[in-house]
Amino acid sequence: MSTLHSTPHLCYADDVIFMGSWSKKNVMNLKRILRCLQLVSGLKVNLMKSSLMGVGPKEDEVHRMVGLLNYKAGSLPFLYLGLPVGENMKRIGPWRPIIDKFAKKLSNWKAKTLSMGGRITLSKAVLGNLPAYYLSIFKASVKVINSLEGIRRAFVWGKLGGKNKLQWVAWKKVQAPKNMGGLGLGEIRSLNWALLAKWKWRFRNNPTQLWTKVLRAIHGNDNSPLGIPIKRDRPGVWKDINLVYAELKKARVEITDNTGIVNNNDSIQTFSVATFRSFVAEKMGKKTEVGHFTWNRWVPNKVLLFVWRLILGSIATKAAFDHRGINLGNLECGICGGDVETVNHLTVECTLVKAVWWHVFNWIKISVSVQVSDFNGLLDEVYKQKGSKIWKKTIEVVLYAAVWRVWKSRNGKVFENIPFSVLKVVEEIKEDSYFWLKHRSPFSKLDWMRWRDFNIRDIIM
Ligand SMILES: [Zn+2]
Repeated sequence: MSTLHSTPHLCYADDVIFMGSWSKKNVMNLKRILRCLQLVSGLKVNLMKSSLMGVGPKEDEVHRMVGLLNYKAGSLPFLYLGLPVGENMKRIGPWRPIIDKFAKKLSNWKAKTLSMGGRITLSKAVLGNLPAYYLSIFKASVKVINSLEGIRRAFVWGKLGGKNKLQWVAWKKVQAPKNMGGLGLGEIRSLNWALLAKWKWRFRNNPTQLWTKVLRAIHGNDNSPLGIPIKRDRPGVWKDINLVYAELKKARVEITDNTGIVNNNDSIQTFSVATFRSFVAEKMGKKTEVGHFTWNRWVPNKVLLFVWRLILGSIATKAAFDHRGINLGNLECGICGGDVETVNHLTVECTLVKAVWWHVFNWIKISVSVQVSDFNGLLDEVYKQKGSKIWKKTIEVVLYAAVWRVWKSRNGKVFENIPFSVLKVVEEIKEDSYFWLKHRSPFSKLDWMRWRDFNIRDIIM
């Protein structure tokens, strides 16, 4: 690495590495320099934290030199800036601290105190610091990814601590981006790949930096503007990055030019880890059908999460428990006591729920056939109506409030024996939707008396 002779040390915060050729003279000179530094600045080198490492010389030779310096003998792997150097990151062992930290952050007591929405948010956020740091340098093996995903999955479904709680939605659907019908948690693998791909982009944009020079020195000297040097017989981080990139290229996600434009066939965007990650998810994932459902921001998250699960047919109805082999004694609808309690019965088939819909549609002054087979059918009916985007978004708020309130009242009846009152549910739907619009939409001045009459055309149409 002759080009590196001008850079004999790496210094970052309180971590310093000195590099030089192996000789007693060099070692003694380094000792003198550090002594001078101490005399001039008063900064003393902590011998306990310093070590000497030889790349090439025999062990007893290293120990002889260590004796001269009073340092410890260092060996590979070691930590530099919190990252293992010289470690085989294909093994799960070196990832153990990350996995443990991850598990500690997504702990049982937190799972117990949070709603599902809260648990989703937290399991998104824990990727923010240390794991993301490792994932931005090393390609995680399938085993590592599976361990991390397993911890997240158990946390989201409240399954930690050995209790076998039910998982209501396929994990792939929880991970999938929202524009693919998923819950948008994201895959750890796609984050890992996007973070690694960023090095390609950095490489092209920082040709004069030390690390790019090191890479050229090790991997060859391809000077073409898009050239990324790679010698496949040299193992290590850079080779892994290139392997990931080759995989992504096969899926047609690639960085197409020097300024970092990403092309996934039909869409071209400036490089960012987030866009790159979503391209990976789109190209490598499957779309989940959710019909007209949208993540309407005027509705609270917990309600959206409920409606999303309802559309996927994954809420905790009696039929769903029965289907999973859990015997509840009876399967009758918790509201009317008639037919088997399925998702569709609770949302559109139940006589009492039909009565709720009748009142709601009357109130919002649209005529909709309630002879639909599921909630998506109802949404379709609404989308067929004439009206502005804003109006449809408002109607959506009402519809989501309706299924939410019906479910709450069903639970009240099943668990606390509170009678199901159609008119009370309709009142609650009006109140909830009013409250949400007032606090979450631009219509903060909405008047309750006008909302009660749905006299809003001049404001919302
Ligand atoms: Zn019923």
